[in-house]
Amino acid sequence: MHRLKTDLAATFAIGVSALAAPATAQQQDVIEAARVTLAGIQNSSFDKNREFCGLIGRNAQGNLVVTRPRQGSADGCRPRSFRMFSNTEVLASYHTHGAHIPGETVEVPSTYDLHADAEEGIFGFVSTPGGRFWIIEPERDQVRLLCGMGCLPHDPDYDVTSSEALKPVYTGAELEDREAGG
Ligand SMILES: [Zn+2]
Repeated sequence: MHRLKTDLAATFAIGVSALAAPATAQQQDVIEAARVTLAGIQNSSFDKNREFCGLIGRNAQGNLVVTRPRQGSADGCRPRSFRMFSNTEVLASYHTHGAHIPGETVEVPSTYDLHADAEEGIFGFVSTPGGRFWIIEPERDQVRLLCGMGCLPHDPDYDVTSSEALKPVYTGAELEDREAGG
């Protein structure tokens, strides 16, 4: 449900301005790196019912760097930082949402996820038990569905024939309402 705050902001002093207008092609390769990474850890996330998380950055040579996924708890995960790699600009976080638990819905990023990425001035990517793939866009104060149910590996316990009605975009305020049961 949550990705725990990191101390990246303090470590790297990355401002939102650095992300204000990413080139579309550049953003596209970050999205693809996140998609491939999350697809590869979905099954471990379900089997262990743990969140897995990490960071995506760009090094001084202009290449994307993805940190090895770190195993968190059932509802939180703190990514490894790039501290050991100087000259790597952190662009985005990624995390899974663990296994499907009947009666709970973690098919949408949380307000905590949105706030954590906002504080760090980075994008975020989230994969869910239902195989949904979201991007967190703090500069727009929203989360946006990149691809829907089953587009990434999904938990066999998640009923993909269920029609959980989700919107393709949630603003921060809408996420708060949703979490409040409104
Ligand atoms: Zn989350």
